[in-house]
Amino acid sequence: TLRYTFVMHKHRQSTIITSKEALSTHLALTEDEWLFDSDDPTSLPLKIPCYFLALIDKNDPEDPIRRQVVPTRREQQVLFEEHLDPLAEVDHSVTDRLIHRYQSRVAFLTTDVCPLHCRHCFRRRFTGTFQGPATKQQVEQAAAYVHVHPEVKEILFTGGDVLTLSNKALEKMIKAFRDKRPDLVIRLCSRMPASYPMRIKADLIAMLKQFDSAPFYLMTQFNHPRELTARAIEAVRFFVDGGIPAMNQTVLLKGVNDEVSTLEELCNTLVFNRIKPYYLFQGDLVSGTAHFRVPLKEGLAIEAELRKRLSGLAMPLYAIDLPQGGGKVPLMQGYLSEQSGCGLWSFRTVEGETRTYPDSMEQSSSEHPR
Ligand SMILES: *Cc1c(COP(=O)(O)O)cnc(C)c1O
Ligand code: SF4
Repeated sequence: TLRYTFVMHKHRQSTIITSKEALSTHLALTEDEWLFDSDDPTSLPLKIPCYFLALIDKNDPEDPIRRQVVPTRREQQVLFEEHLDPLAEVDHSVTDRLIHRYQSRVAFLTTDVCPLHCRHCFRRRFTGTFQGPATKQQVEQAAAYVHVHPEVKEILFTGGDVLTLSNKALEKMIKAFRDKRPDLVIRLCSRMPASYPMRIKADLIAMLKQFDSAPFYLMTQFNHPRELTARAIEAVRFFVDGGIPAMNQTVLLKGVNDEVSTLEELCNTLVFNRIKPYYLFQGDLVSGTAHFRVPLKEGLAIEAELRKRLSGLAMPLYAIDLPQGGGKVPLMQGYLSEQSGCGLWSFRTVEGETRTYPDSMEQSSSEHPR
């Protein structure tokens, strides 16, 4: 009986829900959820692994895990200022699937396949479009590009989700880049630890360890503390124990994690499990995601309160990726309030008080003109 239960369990966990009908056998869908038009070819298809589905509190129609993966009719409301490619990634592509937006790093779209489809996905133009993994030729072109661009120090293996590739396919891809650039730092950007941690086992880490000429970093996306299950934590532990540091990028999402206490718990739990909170992203202007965006004023207030409560290690950088390919810029309330005459700088403390800092450099340079 035990053996049978185990097999059943395994099977249940590896099933993926892709239709409203299948989903409705697990959840009592609300009207807004039921009216989502899954036949609309421009919409991101429904995709939820049963592991992730099991994290949903079925009695709560506003459950934060549910909000992230169960589509609603609200996605069909596209605002004038929203776009399918708000970061103008297509314009910044230097070879097929290779985006060079920042001098020292590039992003490579390894595949469009994801273990789940996040309703807030900012790369909807590409995710789940059935294009599959990058071809050998696309990989070789991208590798040739970084070969002749030594200013590129890091490559983001993103998508889609790079860990949907088989170990063999991933190994070939890494080899193609590292043959040309043994010094290239590789960031593995993956939602797999959060959405399907069973994918991550010792064989993956052993494969990565062969490529020891430069480091890897694991970039996770945990948006809610409930995603940090024992399985998820174990998946990340494989990387960290294997010498691969883990960093997390959270998307600030209305109705999911827009409460200070939720983010505080998330960040502290991440640090406790050796995952550094790296970015907290303001929602991009992606088509059909308005219902997820937190107003900037609120986001800034959340950031300020987090800065009071969290250690420097636990504090992510709140950032916005500006429209029309403007790139990422940090977001925070100014702590430097003004610079008066005679080199006196005025600051607002985290608690809201005022302090001044007399700038000695400026004084000494006026005393000793060159
Ligand atoms: C975010 C991003 C990067 C990485 O930026 P960091 O600030 O170094 O994390 C690189 N390329 C693209 C296209 C990006 O959007
Ligand atoms: S895992 Fe990333 S690329 Fe895939 S659907 Fe979610 S946000 Fe989009």
